[in-house]
Amino acid sequence: MKTTPYWWEDAEPQHGERSFDKSDCSVLIIGAGYTGLSAAITLAEEGIGNIFVVDAMRIGEGASSRNGGQLGNSPKFDLAYAQRKFGDKRGREIIEDYDASVSFLIKRAQSLGADIDLNLNGSVAGAHSRQDFARLRQIRDRLPADKRTQFELIEEKDVHRVLKTDIYRGALLRHDWGSLHPAKYVKALADRARALGVRIFTGWRYGGADKSGSAYLARLSQTNDTGTVQIRADSVFIAVNGYAGPEFPWLRKRIIPVQSYMIATEELPFDMLEELIPQNRVVNDTKHILYYFRRSPDGKRILFGGRASFRKANEQESAVGLRAFMEHTFPSLRGVKLTHSWLGNVCFAYDFVTHAGRLPDGIYYSSCYNGNGVSMATYIGHRMAEMILNKPGHDRGVINTHFPRLYCYNGNPWFLPIVGSWYRFLDKKARWGEK
Ligand SMILES: Cc1cc2nc3c(=O)[nH]c(=O)nc-3n(C[C@H](O)[C@H](O)[C@H](O)COP(=O)(O)OP(=O)(O)OC[C@H]3O[C@@H](n4cnc5c(N)ncnc54)[C@H](O)[C@@H]3O)c2cc1C
Repeated sequence: MKTTPYWWEDAEPQHGERSFDKSDCSVLIIGAGYTGLSAAITLAEEGIGNIFVVDAMRIGEGASSRNGGQLGNSPKFDLAYAQRKFGDKRGREIIEDYDASVSFLIKRAQSLGADIDLNLNGSVAGAHSRQDFARLRQIRDRLPADKRTQFELIEEKDVHRVLKTDIYRGALLRHDWGSLHPAKYVKALADRARALGVRIFTGWRYGGADKSGSAYLARLSQTNDTGTVQIRADSVFIAVNGYAGPEFPWLRKRIIPVQSYMIATEELPFDMLEELIPQNRVVNDTKHILYYFRRSPDGKRILFGGRASFRKANEQESAVGLRAFMEHTFPSLRGVKLTHSWLGNVCFAYDFVTHAGRLPDGIYYSSCYNGNGVSMATYIGHRMAEMILNKPGHDRGVINTHFPRLYCYNGNPWFLPIVGSWYRFLDKKARWGEK
């Protein structure tokens, strides 16, 4: 079993430029994932030249080439919560940002003109309990009539129509969502950025920046410890999400990085998998400790993901837990061979809201897609480019919202095993009394 992502079989991350031939740029973007590359594309399309994107690893080697490739993006809170926390107007705009992100992503993905296995066959949310199903029904019923047509409520007795499992108490099928190949997508973003003149440097770690007049002097060091360089930039944008290290102390007091895990099965008969997950739709569920799964773009494998452990686990350990989840969901997969097991970092905020804006020293940042970054990172990267350009109307939705911090916390989420136990209890409790 390989411990690299299945996606890398088709599109393994590549290095960018390895050395700097000049030491100044207009915008310095740290992080060559969806957020950083999407921002770079918008900036370059708006006519900004001399943009540098820098990554400590290879292009897209963070979560952007490791994820499940599911496009859906429901916030982990409702309008009432958003309005209570951020006021009526801002709360509404935040929900609009989540809605807008998927259509923006589809537009941007289609504009790249590359084969990224974009599939809009639909997305299924499985209800873990009858109460969760009632909540899914409520979500659908509250939608305006024109939007409701995209949502199909599947009663418990009909679940087999969309998914051959007995574990759900009903489901909500969104016809307009779907999936893509995450690693091909991040490569296509990088190709597009480079075609627009953006320069991407890899193997360089950002170590902070000092203000110098109206600009910044950023310190970069090679990850193999062979050199350092100082880059002068008019603006700096931090787009590192769950990979933020101690070099970002302000962010680390506010973010909870969490490992998420995935496995891939060997190739299985197409017809067998078509019966389990018809039409190659993607699936997630309503549990606190959720599973997300799908077939590979060619329909021949199951790719199964989830939070297999709330302690740091390696790829061998997490594969054991994920296999058990997968076999519980689809008993007919018992004993199939796993070919890949991998992990990556997602990033949560205490209030479960995506936050983006400026650090106290004026450096831009975007963070915390709360496990749903394929569309949101693409969209907020674009929105942050609008903020850097000072475009009218940029200050709305998640941009510039208050980013809460947890006191006596410095980025080491020691409490995750406790949270995991609590979530496990809540998931069990949700099914008590249900037959
Ligand atoms: C296993 C898994 C499954 C997921 N499934 C889904 C899914 O199905 N659907 C969905 O919507 N989302 C999913 N996500 C989340 C999604 O992948 C992320 O939210 C998204 O990729 C974040 O993109 P990003 O560009 O902000 O960050 P990343 O792609 O993580 O990139 C951050 C980059 O910053 C770089 N970096 C960090 N520090 C420095 C430094 N000091 N100097 C230079 N570079 C630095 C890192 O090397 C990294 O490449 C999943 C994530 C994982 C891990």
